[in-house]
Amino acid sequence: MSMLDHYAEQLDELKTQGNFRQFRSNIQTDRWIEIDKQRMLNLSSNDYLGLAANTQLREQFFDETPNSQRWMSSSSSRLLTGNFPAYELLEQSLTHAFHGRAVLLFNSGYHMNIGILPALADSKTLILADKLIHASMIDGIRLSTAKYVRYRHNDLAHLTQLLGRYHDDIEIERIIVVTESIFSMDGDETDLAALVAIKQQFAKVMLYVDEAHAIGVRGEQGLGCAEQYSVIDQIDLLVGTFGKALASIGGYLICHPIIRDCLINKMRPLIFSTAQPPICMAWTNFIFQRVLSLNHLRSHLAQMSKSLQQAIQAKGFTCPSSSHIVPVIIGDSLKTVKKSKALQQAGFYIMPVRPPTVPQHSSRLRISLNAQLQSAELEQLIALL
Ligand SMILES: *Cc1c(COP(=O)(O)O)cnc(C)c1O
Repeated sequence: MSMLDHYAEQLDELKTQGNFRQFRSNIQTDRWIEIDKQRMLNLSSNDYLGLAANTQLREQFFDETPNSQRWMSSSSSRLLTGNFPAYELLEQSLTHAFHGRAVLLFNSGYHMNIGILPALADSKTLILADKLIHASMIDGIRLSTAKYVRYRHNDLAHLTQLLGRYHDDIEIERIIVVTESIFSMDGDETDLAALVAIKQQFAKVMLYVDEAHAIGVRGEQGLGCAEQYSVIDQIDLLVGTFGKALASIGGYLICHPIIRDCLINKMRPLIFSTAQPPICMAWTNFIFQRVLSLNHLRSHLAQMSKSLQQAIQAKGFTCPSSSHIVPVIIGDSLKTVKKSKALQQAGFYIMPVRPPTVPQHSSRLRISLNAQLQSAELEQLIALL
């Protein structure tokens, strides 16, 4: 028996279940994506405002960034020689926007989420996490030595009950509640105002909220659901990514300066990985400055999202979404793949999402709308569903 048979069998199993994944080559131009010579509207990307696809922005950025500042590598961690001015400029921009709070940058949202909890949570820490948090936070919890209990998805009554049960346990010195604001797969959202009100009843609690899908998209200035619900100052660990609506790469944390210093001293993905190229910092800052005033795009996206959610419900599907991430939950993986192929043939690039990304028997089409989509195109898509 070859050493590879074991792995080949695993792959066969995935194929039988319709859950086998592979890369596909693609060519992208503006809002369009071309795969196997077929040109489709891209409704699977996380470029929610259409800024990553915008060639004018790129041109403007390179025009105003002299070659002397186009560093394509930082050549070390920020603790060695990697702390270029571009890093501090971006942190200052974020601090300014987020009410003067401290900011720390990371190489990606994934690095951020696998690094923060192991650095802050020890065996006297209890982590209470929403059942549907992103894999990166689950990996962070696993890498920590904290005790870990999940609460039912978006069930704040269940969370309150667990807090009541564990809060006065003398073995537990702190409790970190971990959730997302807008959830990746269902497109539904946590009631952040209610979550903050709960936290305020329990002295040992810190809140950790991931705004990966909300930054750029929600709030008057695009600072996320925390801005929309006026709770920026009440969330202890407010995180997000630049890789989605912000058309760049990297993660950020808004926190207290003590937490920032603690992470600089203890967080392994920050200490032991080469910092992002300074040019990425400069680009993120360039985009961030613009995003603050793109409220017209945010409104258009919100309007289209609402129309699509309503249309899906009218067709008899359950639609948990209250955001621009709109799932059509079909259940069976093979059926879902078939439907997504039909939509692709009709010119809409919509991908199936299957286990283990989502729970068993909840395979779905995941439509991720972007602000460049026009109403007529949306109507056409709705007719095809
Ligand atoms: C995409 C995502 C991440 C990972 O961010 P990257 O910058 O892509 O590594 C983290 N959390 C959530 C909720 C996400 O959706």
